[in-house]
Amino acid sequence: MKYIPEKKPIYGETLESLQDRLMEIGEHAFRAKQVMEWLYKKRAHSWESMTNLPAPLRRRLESEFEISPTKRLLAKESTDETEKLLLEMGDKSLIETVVIRAPQIGVGQRDSRKTICISTQVGCAYGCKFCASGLAGWKRDLSVGEIVSQLIHVCHQEDATTERAKEEIASFDNIVVMGMGEPMANYENLLPALRILNAPWGLNFGARRITISTSGIVPKILELADEPEQFRLAVSLHGATNAVREQIMPINKRYPLETLVPAIRKYAETKGRMITLEFILIDSLNDTSEQANALADIALQLNAHVNLIPYNTVAGLDWKRPSIKRQESFYQRLKRANVSATIRREKGHDIAAACGQLKLKVEPIAENG
Ligand code: SAH
Ligand code: SF4
Repeated sequence: MKYIPEKKPIYGETLESLQDRLMEIGEHAFRAKQVMEWLYKKRAHSWESMTNLPAPLRRRLESEFEISPTKRLLAKESTDETEKLLLEMGDKSLIETVVIRAPQIGVGQRDSRKTICISTQVGCAYGCKFCASGLAGWKRDLSVGEIVSQLIHVCHQEDATTERAKEEIASFDNIVVMGMGEPMANYENLLPALRILNAPWGLNFGARRITISTSGIVPKILELADEPEQFRLAVSLHGATNAVREQIMPINKRYPLETLVPAIRKYAETKGRMITLEFILIDSLNDTSEQANALADIALQLNAHVNLIPYNTVAGLDWKRPSIKRQESFYQRLKRANVSATIRREKGHDIAAACGQLKLKVEPIAENG
């Protein structure tokens, strides 16, 4: 399903596309630069506040472009460290953007390192058997503007309490593309969105601080390897043999490990950077010693970091989180094989699943970055 909004989102425009449009309507190209400065450096909330633009131009822009393609419904403080922003889009679809704070010694909570987790689709078509996003199925892809505007919401919220807004830099430290949806299935909007965040006239946010997580869409991993930017890659592995992986990830039938692993290797070699393998531990399914050994082989071959995530209960699904003892012996087996690995545990299941699982996934990335 495609959603075509009444007005184009301004956050979906590049400097060049806005220059072209302004020239078409008889304006000077330099006005585009001014608009971008208001949006990304000064973080204006309205057209009206762009005081160095002539009033008729502001009205014209307002009639053509939407400045807030997503509306914030609520900000739910799930824990001290994790906050969910529930965003509503023009067609009433809902997505979540999550702010994860890693407290730092000696500074207040508000000045802690912040990692922002963004969504790329409403729902997801890939139907992984453990995932809440997969359960609901795919509704639609997010547009470039809807992806970028998630970060702008976060800036607007955080700007009030950090000094960074005054310096006209982003009010967060890392972006992880690990929210709802499969980012590689919306590559054509994801990449332009990340380029806008990265552009000097945009948020000027470094590609090395952006991690894209994928369930393993091989052709897109290869395409991303050929892009000039140094985005970081995380791959949701969750099974170290085809027999186990295909029980929980239907995508494994299309891109089994013998094609996925070489694609990851190509990415790591081209970029010269360590990639992350994500592995959810599910009781009696993928937490066996055989799986640990097979995972160690893959991780060593790829010189990859492994992030173990104890499964988070999802209502309606029967999987179970392994006991601490089983989690620990899996982890120790990787360590003994000299694999770089982390395991994250939260205190209980009190945090809403999506949020909790994100925090566990994101923390190691934020710490390494
Ligand atoms: N579609 C992409 C992007 C993020 S999906 C991908 O699959 O990589 C969200 C992430 O949360 C995935 O890594 C997924 O493995 C993880 N996840 C989904 N359900 C989970 C659960 N119940 N417990 C723990 N992690 C889960
Ligand atoms: Fe989609 Fe990722 Fe969830 Fe799989 S884990 S269903 S690819 S969002």
